[in-house]
Amino acid sequence: MRWLLLFISLLLTSPAMAEQIQIVASFSILGDMVKAVGGDRVNVTSIVGPNADTHVYEPKPSDAAAVTRAQIFFVNGLGFEGWMDRFVQSTDYTGPLVVASQGVTPRDFVDDGVTVTDPHAWQSLSNGLIYVRNIKTALCKIAPSSCGAFTASAQDYSQQIISLDADVRAAIASVSPEQRKVITTHDAFGYFGTAYGVSFLAPEGISTDAEPSAAGVAKLIEQIRSEGVKALFIENMTDPRLIQQIASETGIKVGGELFADALSFPGRGAGSYLEMFRHNIGLLVPAMKGD
Ligand SMILES: [Zn+2]
Repeated sequence: MRWLLLFISLLLTSPAMAEQIQIVASFSILGDMVKAVGGDRVNVTSIVGPNADTHVYEPKPSDAAAVTRAQIFFVNGLGFEGWMDRFVQSTDYTGPLVVASQGVTPRDFVDDGVTVTDPHAWQSLSNGLIYVRNIKTALCKIAPSSCGAFTASAQDYSQQIISLDADVRAAIASVSPEQRKVITTHDAFGYFGTAYGVSFLAPEGISTDAEPSAAGVAKLIEQIRSEGVKALFIENMTDPRLIQQIASETGIKVGGELFADALSFPGRGAGSYLEMFRHNIGLLVPAMKGD
């Protein structure tokens, strides 16, 4: 019995278990970025998982339990997690709440005459670099002895992001400027559009919490026809029926599924932030050209 207890206590204090920092991220894309910087030294739980919609998410008791156990809680900020303040107050969490988008230039969006902040900052890879820097700084603060490892992986990851950014720019450059028009379900690609010179239009606004009006959809269909838009996409975490309706009314084929606010499950094409970008650009470019 004594030996068994000694064995169990050795297991519990083994370096891998003792050093892993318990982290919660609000959604899957951010969770993946935290994992990329933290590596084996972190254990990351994402509240809103693959293919799920953060805008309208309702936290569960198990989410509160995970946050209460966590040493750091990463959120996107910019109003993306509208449920966040109430949720955090409902938990016993007292650790740092790190806003990963801190320092990005916010993009304003006018929706029915009301100006709101666009939260989808991760859809520009240069903003992704800012997220990585914020994640690294927060991890170094909580575990100074691992800061060297976090800095090294953040540098390596940032190089991959910079290289992908160059690939995205080269791919977009192959599309003539007048063809760079895309329709998606909701306005998740404003930062992408500003960064890479593509204009995105959507029947739903910046959030997915409101149904678009019939008049709004009719106006969009008119615009698609008059501007000769060829690229029409559903998203992985929103209802596809509106886009399917627009496809049938305009005769434009749906170009596939873009990953907007959530990753796919692992191995399903967009299991990481970088895979998500590669997937999206791989669909967007031929669709804009009408191939
Ligand atoms: Zn969104």
